[in-house]
Amino acid sequence: MANKPEKFIDENGLRLDGRAVDEIRPMTIEIGVLSRADGSCYLEWGKNKILAAVYGPRELHPRRMQKPDEAIVRYRYNMAAFSVEDRARPGPSRRSIEISKVSRDAFAPIIMTKYYPSAVIDIFAEVLQADAGTRTAAINAASIALADAGIPMKGLISACAVGKVDGQLVLDLSKDEDNYGNADLPIAMTQDGEISLLQMDGNLTKEEFKKALEMASEGCRQILEIQKEALKRKFASHEEVVESLAEVADEIIEDVQKEIELIDEDFEVSELEDEDVIEITIAKTDTSEPVDKAQEEDFTEFTEDESSNVDGPEGYEADKAGERHEQ
Ligand code: ADP
Repeated sequence: MANKPEKFIDENGLRLDGRAVDEIRPMTIEIGVLSRADGSCYLEWGKNKILAAVYGPRELHPRRMQKPDEAIVRYRYNMAAFSVEDRARPGPSRRSIEISKVSRDAFAPIIMTKYYPSAVIDIFAEVLQADAGTRTAAINAASIALADAGIPMKGLISACAVGKVDGQLVLDLSKDEDNYGNADLPIAMTQDGEISLLQMDGNLTKEEFKKALEMASEGCRQILEIQKEALKRKFASHEEVVESLAEVADEIIEDVQKEIELIDEDFEVSELEDEDVIEITIAKTDTSEPVDKAQEEDFTEFTEDESSNVDGPEGYEADKAGERHEQ
Protein backbone atom coordinates (compact mmCIF):
# COMPACT_ATOMS: atom_id res chain seq x y z
CA MET A 1 0.00 0.00 0.00
CA ALA A 2 1.27 3.50 -0.83
CA ASN A 3 2.40 5.71 2.06
CA LYS A 4 0.11 8.37 3.43
CA PRO A 5 0.62 11.60 1.43
CA GLU A 6 1.64 14.66 3.46
CA LYS A 7 -1.01 16.83 1.89
CA PHE A 8 -4.15 15.89 -0.03
CA ILE A 9 -5.02 19.38 -1.26
CA ASP A 10 -2.40 21.82 -2.58
CA GLU A 11 -2.24 25.61 -2.23
CA ASN A 12 -4.33 26.01 -5.41
CA GLY A 13 -7.12 23.91 -3.93
CA LEU A 14 -6.37 20.98 -6.21
CA ARG A 15 -6.22 17.34 -5.12
CA LEU A 16 -3.39 14.86 -5.73
CA ASP A 17 -4.88 13.79 -9.06
CA GLY A 18 -5.41 17.40 -10.13
CA ARG A 19 -9.16 17.49 -9.48
CA ALA A 20 -11.04 20.30 -7.77
CA VAL A 21 -12.70 19.38 -4.46
CA ASP A 22 -16.12 19.15 -6.10
CA GLU A 23 -15.02 17.32 -9.24
CA ILE A 24 -15.81 13.68 -10.04
CA ARG A 25 -13.40 11.33 -11.83
CA PRO A 26 -13.97 10.80 -15.57
CA MET A 27 -16.64 8.17 -16.23
CA THR A 28 -17.22 6.16 -19.40
CA ILE A 29 -20.15 3.82 -20.00
CA GLU A 30 -20.66 1.10 -22.59
CA ILE A 31 -24.07 -0.59 -22.84
CA GLY A 32 -25.06 -4.08 -24.00
CA VAL A 33 -21.59 -5.63 -23.76
CA LEU A 34 -22.79 -9.14 -22.82
CA SER A 35 -24.92 -11.03 -25.32
CA ARG A 36 -26.30 -13.62 -22.87
CA ALA A 37 -27.53 -11.15 -20.27
CA ASP A 38 -30.85 -9.35 -20.73
CA GLY A 39 -29.08 -6.10 -19.96
CA SER A 40 -25.45 -5.21 -19.35
CA CYS A 41 -23.06 -2.34 -18.82
CA TYR A 42 -19.32 -1.84 -18.61
CA LEU A 43 -18.36 1.23 -16.62
CA GLU A 44 -15.01 2.86 -15.96
CA TRP A 45 -14.79 5.52 -13.31
CA GLY A 46 -11.26 6.72 -12.72
CA LYS A 47 -9.37 3.43 -12.41
CA ASN A 48 -12.47 1.45 -11.33
CA LYS A 49 -13.65 -1.08 -13.89
CA ILE A 50 -17.09 -2.61 -13.35
CA LEU A 51 -19.15 -5.07 -15.33
CA ALA A 52 -22.87 -5.24 -14.54
CA ALA A 53 -25.32 -7.82 -15.88
CA VAL A 54 -29.07 -8.12 -15.41
CA TYR A 55 -31.11 -11.29 -15.94
CA GLY A 56 -34.90 -11.33 -15.83
CA PRO A 57 -37.59 -10.86 -15.00
CA ARG A 58 -37.82 -14.66 -15.03
CA GLU A 59 -39.67 -17.25 -12.96
CA LEU A 60 -38.07 -17.75 -9.58
CA HIS A 61 -37.06 -21.23 -8.49
CA PRO A 62 -37.44 -22.74 -5.96
CA ARG A 63 -41.07 -21.64 -5.91
CA ARG A 64 -41.21 -21.26 -2.14
CA MET A 65 -39.00 -18.17 -2.54
CA GLN A 66 -41.50 -16.48 -4.89
CA LYS A 67 -43.59 -13.51 -3.84
CA PRO A 68 -47.10 -13.92 -5.28
CA ASP A 69 -47.69 -10.19 -5.70
CA GLU A 70 -44.33 -8.91 -6.95
CA ALA A 71 -40.89 -9.79 -8.29
CA ILE A 72 -37.97 -10.15 -5.94
CA VAL A 73 -34.71 -8.37 -6.75
CA ARG A 74 -31.34 -9.98 -6.03
CA TYR A 75 -28.08 -8.09 -6.18
CA ARG A 76 -24.63 -9.63 -6.06
CA TYR A 77 -21.61 -7.41 -5.66
CA ASN A 78 -18.36 -9.28 -6.17
CA MET A 79 -14.72 -8.28 -6.33
CA ALA A 80 -12.62 -10.29 -8.76
CA ALA A 81 -9.54 -11.83 -7.13
CA PHE A 82 -7.36 -9.73 -9.45
CA SER A 83 -9.24 -6.45 -8.85
CA VAL A 84 -7.02 -5.17 -6.04
CA GLU A 85 -3.27 -4.88 -5.39
CA ASP A 86 -3.15 -7.90 -3.08
CA ARG A 87 -5.28 -10.78 -4.30
CA ALA A 88 -8.84 -10.46 -3.01
CA ARG A 89 -10.12 -13.65 -1.37
CA PRO A 90 -12.65 -15.20 -3.78
CA GLY A 91 -16.22 -15.79 -2.65
CA PRO A 92 -18.60 -13.82 -0.47
CA SER A 93 -17.20 -11.82 2.42
CA ARG A 94 -18.94 -9.82 5.16
CA ARG A 95 -18.15 -6.69 3.16
CA SER A 96 -19.52 -7.97 -0.16
CA ILE A 97 -22.68 -9.36 1.51
CA GLU A 98 -23.31 -5.99 3.15
CA ILE A 99 -22.68 -4.05 -0.07
CA SER A 100 -24.99 -6.42 -2.00
CA LYS A 101 -27.78 -5.85 0.52
CA VAL A 102 -27.59 -2.06 0.67
CA SER A 103 -27.19 -1.85 -3.13
CA ARG A 104 -30.30 -3.98 -3.70
CA ASP A 105 -32.23 -1.74 -1.31
CA ALA A 106 -30.96 1.31 -3.21
CA PHE A 107 -33.03 0.17 -6.22
CA ALA A 108 -36.21 -0.48 -4.20
CA PRO A 109 -37.82 2.94 -4.90
CA ILE A 110 -37.51 2.67 -8.67
CA ILE A 111 -37.94 -0.94 -9.86
CA MET A 112 -41.63 -1.63 -10.56
CA THR A 113 -41.65 -5.13 -9.09
CA LYS A 114 -45.48 -5.33 -8.96
CA TYR A 115 -45.50 -5.87 -12.73
CA TYR A 116 -43.86 -9.27 -12.35
CA PRO A 117 -45.41 -11.42 -9.60
CA SER A 118 -43.52 -14.62 -8.72
CA ALA A 119 -40.53 -13.50 -10.80
CA VAL A 120 -36.93 -12.64 -9.99
CA ILE A 121 -34.67 -9.91 -11.32
CA ASP A 122 -30.98 -10.73 -10.84
CA ILE A 123 -28.35 -8.00 -10.83
CA PHE A 124 -24.67 -8.94 -10.88
CA ALA A 125 -21.95 -6.35 -10.35
CA GLU A 126 -18.42 -7.61 -10.90
CA VAL A 127 -15.57 -5.37 -9.86
CA LEU A 128 -12.74 -6.09 -12.31
CA GLN A 129 -10.47 -3.34 -11.02
CA ALA A 130 -10.98 -1.52 -7.74
CA ASP A 131 -9.80 1.98 -6.92
CA ALA A 132 -12.16 3.35 -4.24
CA GLY A 133 -15.86 3.94 -4.64
CA THR A 134 -16.59 0.53 -6.12
CA ARG A 135 -20.03 0.17 -4.50
CA THR A 136 -21.17 3.47 -5.99
CA ALA A 137 -19.57 2.65 -9.36
CA ALA A 138 -21.33 -0.74 -9.32
CA ILE A 139 -24.71 0.90 -8.59
CA ASN A 140 -24.22 3.34 -11.49
CA ALA A 141 -23.43 0.42 -13.81
CA ALA A 142 -26.31 -1.71 -12.50
CA SER A 143 -28.74 1.14 -13.06
CA ILE A 144 -27.79 1.24 -16.75
CA ALA A 145 -27.86 -2.56 -17.10
CA LEU A 146 -31.42 -2.56 -15.68
CA ALA A 147 -32.45 0.06 -18.21
CA ASP A 148 -30.77 -1.96 -20.98
CA ALA A 149 -32.74 -5.04 -19.87
CA GLY A 150 -35.95 -3.03 -20.27
CA ILE A 151 -36.95 -3.43 -16.62
CA PRO A 152 -39.79 -0.98 -15.89
CA MET A 153 -38.36 1.69 -13.62
CA LYS A 154 -39.45 5.09 -12.37
CA GLY A 155 -36.03 6.49 -13.32
CA LEU A 156 -32.33 5.83 -12.90
CA ILE A 157 -30.25 5.54 -9.74
CA SER A 158 -26.98 7.47 -9.51
CA ALA A 159 -24.43 7.11 -6.75
CA CYS A 160 -21.24 8.74 -5.49
CA ALA A 161 -19.35 9.38 -2.28
CA VAL A 162 -18.11 12.42 -0.39
CA GLY A 163 -15.20 12.26 2.04
CA LYS A 164 -13.03 14.49 4.17
CA VAL A 165 -9.31 15.05 3.79
CA ASP A 166 -7.11 17.81 5.27
CA GLY A 167 -10.25 19.01 7.06
CA GLN A 168 -12.02 19.66 3.74
CA LEU A 169 -14.92 17.88 2.09
CA VAL A 170 -14.10 16.30 -1.27
CA LEU A 171 -16.40 14.72 -3.85
CA ASP A 172 -15.75 11.20 -5.22
CA LEU A 173 -12.82 9.91 -3.16
CA SER A 174 -9.65 8.63 -4.78
CA LYS A 175 -7.90 5.56 -3.37
CA ASP A 176 -5.55 7.55 -1.08
CA GLU A 177 -8.35 9.83 0.07
CA ASP A 178 -10.44 6.75 0.89
CA ASN A 179 -7.61 4.97 2.72
CA TYR A 180 -6.27 7.88 4.76
CA GLY A 181 -9.19 10.33 4.88
CA ASN A 182 -11.28 11.17 7.94
CA ALA A 183 -14.68 10.22 6.49
CA ASP A 184 -16.39 8.42 3.62
CA LEU A 185 -20.08 9.00 2.89
CA PRO A 186 -21.43 7.07 -0.12
CA ILE A 187 -24.96 7.90 -1.25
CA ALA A 188 -27.32 6.73 -4.01
CA MET A 189 -30.13 8.91 -5.29
CA THR A 190 -33.19 8.61 -7.52
CA GLN A 191 -33.75 11.07 -10.36
CA ASP A 192 -36.23 12.88 -8.07
CA GLY A 193 -33.56 13.44 -5.43
CA GLU A 194 -34.75 10.73 -3.04
CA ILE A 195 -31.79 9.20 -1.18
CA SER A 196 -31.97 5.41 -1.38
CA LEU A 197 -28.56 4.56 0.10
CA LEU A 198 -26.59 6.40 2.75
CA GLN A 199 -23.65 4.97 4.63
CA MET A 200 -21.03 6.71 6.68
CA ASP A 201 -17.59 5.76 7.79
CA GLY A 202 -15.65 8.23 10.00
CA ASN A 203 -16.73 11.46 11.62
CA LEU A 204 -18.38 14.61 10.31
CA THR A 205 -19.91 17.55 12.16
CA LYS A 206 -23.60 18.31 11.60
CA GLU A 207 -22.70 21.19 9.28
CA GLU A 208 -20.20 19.08 7.37
CA PHE A 209 -22.77 16.32 7.02
CA LYS A 210 -25.30 18.74 5.51
CA LYS A 211 -22.68 20.15 3.12
CA ALA A 212 -21.52 16.62 2.22
CA LEU A 213 -25.09 15.62 1.31
CA GLU A 214 -25.38 18.67 -0.97
CA MET A 215 -22.05 17.85 -2.66
CA ALA A 216 -22.98 14.20 -3.12
CA SER A 217 -26.39 15.17 -4.56
CA GLU A 218 -24.65 17.45 -7.05
CA GLY A 219 -22.26 14.60 -7.93
CA CYS A 220 -25.23 12.27 -8.50
CA ARG A 221 -26.84 14.85 -10.80
CA GLN A 222 -23.64 15.00 -12.88
CA ILE A 223 -23.52 11.19 -13.05
CA LEU A 224 -27.18 11.06 -14.06
CA GLU A 225 -26.36 13.23 -17.08
CA ILE A 226 -23.51 10.86 -18.08
CA GLN A 227 -25.86 7.87 -17.70
CA LYS A 228 -28.58 9.53 -19.78
CA GLU A 229 -26.08 10.44 -22.52
CA ALA A 230 -24.86 6.83 -22.66
CA LEU A 231 -28.42 5.53 -22.99
CA LYS A 232 -29.17 8.07 -25.72
CA ARG A 233 -26.03 6.99 -27.61
CA LYS A 234 -26.97 3.32 -27.36
CA PHE A 235 -30.52 3.82 -28.54
CA ALA A 236 -29.59 6.50 -31.08
CA SER A 237 -29.48 3.81 -33.78
CA HIS A 238 -33.30 3.67 -33.66
CA GLU A 239 -33.49 7.44 -33.83
CA GLU A 240 -31.14 7.40 -36.81
CA VAL A 241 -33.53 5.09 -38.72
CA VAL A 242 -36.42 7.42 -37.96
CA GLU A 243 -34.32 10.43 -38.99
CA SER A 244 -33.25 8.85 -42.30
CA LEU A 245 -36.88 7.92 -43.03
CA ALA A 246 -37.86 11.51 -42.33
CA GLU A 247 -35.14 12.68 -44.74
CA VAL A 248 -36.48 10.36 -47.49
CA ALA A 249 -40.00 11.66 -46.82
CA ASP A 250 -38.73 15.25 -47.11
CA GLU A 251 -37.08 14.42 -50.45
CA ILE A 252 -40.32 12.85 -51.77
CA ILE A 253 -42.30 15.91 -50.69
CA GLU A 254 -39.77 18.16 -52.44
CA ASP A 255 -40.05 16.08 -55.66
CA VAL A 256 -43.84 16.18 -55.53
CA GLN A 257 -43.75 19.93 -55.01
CA LYS A 258 -41.47 20.30 -58.05
CA GLU A 259 -43.86 18.12 -60.12
CA ILE A 260 -46.76 20.29 -59.05
CA GLU A 261 -44.82 23.40 -60.09
CA LEU A 262 -44.14 21.80 -63.51
CA ILE A 263 -47.84 20.90 -63.95
CA ASP A 264 -48.74 24.45 -63.00
CA GLU A 265 -46.36 25.70 -65.69
CA ASP A 266 -47.74 23.27 -68.35
CA PHE A 267 -51.29 24.32 -67.75
CA GLU A 268 -50.35 27.92 -67.31
CA VAL A 269 -52.56 28.17 -64.31
CA SER A 270 -51.86 31.85 -64.05
CA GLU A 271 -53.57 32.36 -67.39
CA LEU A 272 -56.71 30.42 -66.50
CA GLU A 273 -59.93 32.35 -66.24
CA ASP A 274 -61.31 32.74 -62.73
CA GLU A 275 -64.39 30.75 -63.82
CA ASP A 276 -62.31 27.64 -64.68
CA VAL A 277 -60.58 27.62 -61.34
CA ILE A 278 -63.90 27.84 -59.54
CA GLU A 279 -65.29 24.87 -61.51
CA ILE A 280 -62.34 22.68 -60.60
CA THR A 281 -62.69 23.55 -56.95
CA ILE A 282 -66.37 22.60 -56.88
CA ALA A 283 -65.74 19.25 -58.57
CA LYS A 284 -63.13 18.36 -55.96
CA THR A 285 -64.78 19.49 -52.79
CA ASP A 286 -68.53 19.74 -53.17
CA THR A 287 -70.07 16.44 -52.09
CA SER A 288 -73.51 17.86 -51.35
CA GLU A 289 -74.55 17.56 -55.02
CA PRO A 290 -77.09 14.72 -55.52
CA VAL A 291 -75.71 11.65 -57.33
CA ASP A 292 -77.15 11.65 -60.80
CA LYS A 293 -79.31 8.79 -62.11
CA ALA A 294 -76.62 7.19 -64.31
CA GLN A 295 -74.11 7.07 -61.46
CA GLU A 296 -76.76 5.57 -59.16
CA GLU A 297 -77.42 2.74 -61.70
CA ASP A 298 -73.69 1.99 -62.09
CA PHE A 299 -73.42 1.63 -58.34
CA THR A 300 -76.44 -0.73 -58.09
CA GLU A 301 -75.09 -2.89 -60.87
CA PHE A 302 -71.71 -3.20 -59.17
CA THR A 303 -73.14 -4.19 -55.77
CA GLU A 304 -75.36 -6.86 -57.32
CA ASP A 305 -72.65 -8.44 -59.50
CA GLU A 306 -69.83 -8.24 -57.04
CA SER A 307 -71.90 -8.93 -53.93
CA SER A 308 -69.84 -11.99 -52.97
CA ASN A 309 -66.68 -9.86 -52.87
CA VAL A 310 -68.17 -7.11 -50.81
CA ASP A 311 -67.37 -7.04 -47.13
CA GLY A 312 -70.33 -7.00 -44.78
CA PRO A 313 -73.36 -9.19 -44.19
CA GLU A 314 -74.45 -9.38 -47.86
CA GLY A 315 -71.08 -10.59 -49.14
CA TYR A 316 -70.69 -12.93 -46.20
CA GLU A 317 -74.13 -14.50 -46.75
CA ALA A 318 -73.37 -14.95 -50.47
CA ASP A 319 -70.07 -16.67 -49.65
CA LYS A 320 -71.78 -18.96 -47.18
CA ALA A 321 -74.52 -19.84 -49.70
CA GLY A 322 -71.82 -20.66 -52.28
CA GLU A 323 -70.00 -22.91 -49.83
CA ARG A 324 -73.22 -24.81 -48.99
CA HIS A 325 -73.93 -25.21 -52.68
CA GLU A 326 -70.45 -26.70 -53.30
CA GLN A 327 -70.92 -29.21 -50.48
P1 ADP B 1 -15.73 1.20 -1.87
O1 ADP B 1 -14.97 0.48 -2.93
O2 ADP B 1 -17.18 1.23 -2.14
O3 ADP B 1 -15.17 2.56 -1.58
P2 ADP B 1 -14.55 0.37 0.62
O4 ADP B 1 -14.52 1.74 1.20
O5 ADP B 1 -14.85 -0.78 1.53
O6 ADP B 1 -15.61 0.31 -0.56
O7 ADP B 1 -13.16 0.06 -0.09
C1 ADP B 1 -12.32 1.06 -0.55
C2 ADP B 1 -11.30 0.47 -1.47
O8 ADP B 1 -10.45 -0.41 -0.76
C3 ADP B 1 -11.87 -0.39 -2.57
O9 ADP B 1 -12.35 0.37 -3.66
C4 ADP B 1 -10.68 -1.22 -2.96
O10 ADP B 1 -9.81 -0.49 -3.81
C5 ADP B 1 -10.01 -1.44 -1.62
N1 ADP B 1 -10.40 -2.76 -1.08
C6 ADP B 1 -11.59 -3.14 -0.64
N2 ADP B 1 -11.59 -4.42 -0.24
C7 ADP B 1 -10.35 -4.90 -0.46
C8 ADP B 1 -9.71 -6.15 -0.29
N3 ADP B 1 -10.34 -7.21 0.19
N4 ADP B 1 -8.42 -6.25 -0.64
C9 ADP B 1 -7.75 -5.20 -1.13
N5 ADP B 1 -8.30 -3.98 -1.32
C10 ADP B 1 -9.58 -3.81 -1.00
